[in-house]
Amino acid sequence: MIAAAVRAAPSTTGSCTMSSACQTCGACCASFRVSFYWGETDACPGGTVPAELTTPINPWRVAMRGTETAPVHCIALQGEVGISVGCGIYTRRSSTCHEFTEGDERCNDARARHGLPALGLVKA
Ligand code: SF4
Ligand code: SF4
Repeated sequence: MIAAAVRAAPSTTGSCTMSSACQTCGACCASFRVSFYWGETDACPGGTVPAELTTPINPWRVAMRGTETAPVHCIALQGEVGISVGCGIYTRRSSTCHEFTEGDERCNDARARHGLPALGLVKA
């Protein structure tokens, strides 16, 4: 979900659509620290990610709240992992969220952590 297929609630936001697999998953948003350059937050001109949903991890980078400590669960993640999920800031999510790809190694690692079966790689 974090990525290519990360989500909206429940399945679309604006012109963005997440895959059906991601809509019933969300494992990547509940497995890894989601960090990125602070300039991607709306505290910086041109930034999109709501700054209040992030926490600083060093002078240059922030993380989505809820992903910096275990158990990981991004503050913007809605619904229940493995059942039905959405991203509350889908159109404003970070570059890190965009980078996740359904069916890649990290995706399937996250899914395995939540007892979900592996997926095939989705070709662009
Ligand atoms: S772990 Fe994979 S299938 Fe699940 S939401 Fe993330 S990208 Fe989509
Ligand atoms: S902001 Fe959170 S819930 Fe939304 S895609 Fe990124 S990690 Fe997932």
